[in-house]
Formats: sequence, C-alpha cells, structure tokens
Amino acid sequence: MTECPSRGKLLSGARISCPSCNVLLSNPLAGTLAGRGLRFGAYIAEAVLGYVVILALGALAGISPTEEGAVGTFLLGMLGLIIVNVYFWSKGETLGKWLLGMKVYKTSDSPAGFGTMLLREIVGKFVSGFVLCLGYLWILWDRDFQGWHDKIAGTVVIRKSA
Ligand SMILES: [Zn+2]
Repeated sequence: MTECPSRGKLLSGARISCPSCNVLLSNPLAGTLAGRGLRFGAYIAEAVLGYVVILALGALAGISPTEEGAVGTFLLGMLGLIIVNVYFWSKGETLGKWLLGMKVYKTSDSPAGFGTMLLREIVGKFVSGFVLCLGYLWILWDRDFQGWHDKIAGTVVIRKSA
C-alpha cells in the first residue's frame, strides 16, 4: 500500500483515520477501517452463531432445549461461548470479525491484545448496550466508525487484506 496522500495534510493526532481513504493514520500499512455494513454484519453473525453454538453443544450433550435439561444446555452453551470468545479475543478478533475478515487494532497502531479485547468486549460492550444500544449505533455516525466500546478501549476495526 502506498502512503496515504492526505496524511501529510492532517495534524498529528487530530484524526484516527484518513477522511478520504480510511487508512489507520498511526499505521497505514495495517489497512483501512471496516465500514458500517461489515460492522453490523459481524454483530448479526455473532448473535446468530452464538445461538447455534448453544444449540449445537446442547445437542452434542443430548440435552433438548425444550426439556428439563434447558438450564444445562444454557450453561454448556455459555461455557462454549466463553471458550470461543477467549480464543478469538486472544487474536484481537471476535467470531463475527473473523468470519467477515476484520481485526481489532489499537488506535495507537498495533493489533489489539487480549487485555484490550477484554476491556472492549466486556466493559465496553456493557456500556455500549446500556442505553438502548446507543453505543453500538454510534458507529453509524462516528467518523472513525467507533462504537463506545471502541472509544473506551482505544480501538478501531480494520479490514484484513487478502
Ligand atoms: Zn487517505
């Protein structure tokens, strides 16, 4: 990738991403920010897949979600989701972002580590969802496509190049 042409015109620290080409200014080689459609696609994918994981693990354990084993199914599914999440968070991703080719970066330049992901996914998303999911909707008008959870953790979401 060539250096962003508008980079030199921007005051240092004034913007996280280039307004014209959406590269992460602190690390243009990391790639461009993921757009709003991809971001919301990942949330939908995660919600659906989370449900599938719970049902699949329940089925594997021979527990029907409609019977008296429902609590066991739920607990097993939650355990499965925790394992899946820890795996992807340790790589600076989430299940939905991995599926749709995205990665979380710190605005400072580097890929998000596990600690940053914990802050983003647990504290950040709790806050984002707290007031009618306003923190998620923020992505729709934020110029760097940051939700509140991104602002709390100091992160942006980057499209992985092929
Ligand atoms: Zn640019």
